[in-house]
Amino acid sequence: MTSKTALVCGAGGFIGGHLVKRLKREGFWVRGVDLKFNEHAETDADDFVIGDLREQTLVRDVVDRKFDEVYQLAADMGGAGYIFTGENDANVMHNSATINLNVLDACHKRNIKRVFYSSSACMYPEHNQLDPDNPNCAEDSAYPANPDSEYGWEKLFSERLYLAYNRNFGMENRVARYHNIFGPEGTWEGGKEKAPAAMCRKIAMVEDGNEIEVWGDGKQTRSFLYIDECLEGSIRLLRSDFEGPVNIGSEEMISINDLAQMVINISGKNVGIRNVPGPEGVRGRNSDNKLIFEKLGWAPEQPLKRGMEKTFAWISGEVSKKHNKKPL
Ligand code: NAD
Repeated sequence: MTSKTALVCGAGGFIGGHLVKRLKREGFWVRGVDLKFNEHAETDADDFVIGDLREQTLVRDVVDRKFDEVYQLAADMGGAGYIFTGENDANVMHNSATINLNVLDACHKRNIKRVFYSSSACMYPEHNQLDPDNPNCAEDSAYPANPDSEYGWEKLFSERLYLAYNRNFGMENRVARYHNIFGPEGTWEGGKEKAPAAMCRKIAMVEDGNEIEVWGDGKQTRSFLYIDECLEGSIRLLRSDFEGPVNIGSEEMISINDLAQMVINISGKNVGIRNVPGPEGVRGRNSDNKLIFEKLGWAPEQPLKRGMEKTFAWISGEVSKKHNKKPL
């Protein structure tokens, strides 16, 4: 029996790298495409193309067959330090929109019916996320649109693009809105890392008895979803009859200072928190999982703490390797 085939765009990234592994475990033949290999783990892909998905000819070359499953995860993105400073807006919008235009059209022309697209909770309106204790991220709250970053506006455009191909060209694309995905083998330094990884790094590096800096007043809230849960939700969505857009996230909302404290407790260190001005995004954000539970019967299984323990263990190992210290 020949194996099923999958294409993972953005396979050198955090989620893409984990997705390739998962699809390989399921027996797929997998092609990955990215500007780069994953820095943190060898790829399991059968074929890995280093290439720029902004180039139409490259995209046509990699979409050279009717793949059974296509996941489009490639995007120009990063954490708050990348998205909210305004310095990368033109690149974020141009690069990610071009990738989506190219990949989707090449799939359509190969008669591939279904592409999974990873949108983001960053597309929700800023005005529904001003109260840290009571954010509204129900799927139907998306319009009138008012995302707080150009990254969010590009996601909104691309969501609509994928769904327009469904309406006009009979495709069956699936759109997920990810809420802060985290876990081992993700970016943990350099400016593109997200809050959980940044927290783990700072706490792994700080000497006992000292303080770490946390951006904002620390009362801003978020929820975080562990990578394995994200893959389960994504794969279920692609293989379901529901096109979305639908949240894939956790409903376990936590303030950023409480997240820092959780990691401090995991580390066993005696560390203080100092809140400093910095880019922080909206005041509150939490996934609303009613729709995905209703349509797919899916909800995350593990508490945040379990995922943070695994992530802290991995990042403190990386810190030790880099700085030649014994792991904690
Ligand atoms: P990531 O940055 O680790 O992965 C994205 C990958 O896309 C990178 O490896 C990058 O090199 C690649 N890429 C960028 N431009 C490219 C180009 N021109 N050609 C080829 N490859 C290119 O990010 P991730 O966390 O794995 O996120 C994957 C997707 O999920 C993204 O679309 C992101 O917007 C979305 N998302 C992620 C989160 C999260 O918390 N991680 C939250 C919401 C949405």
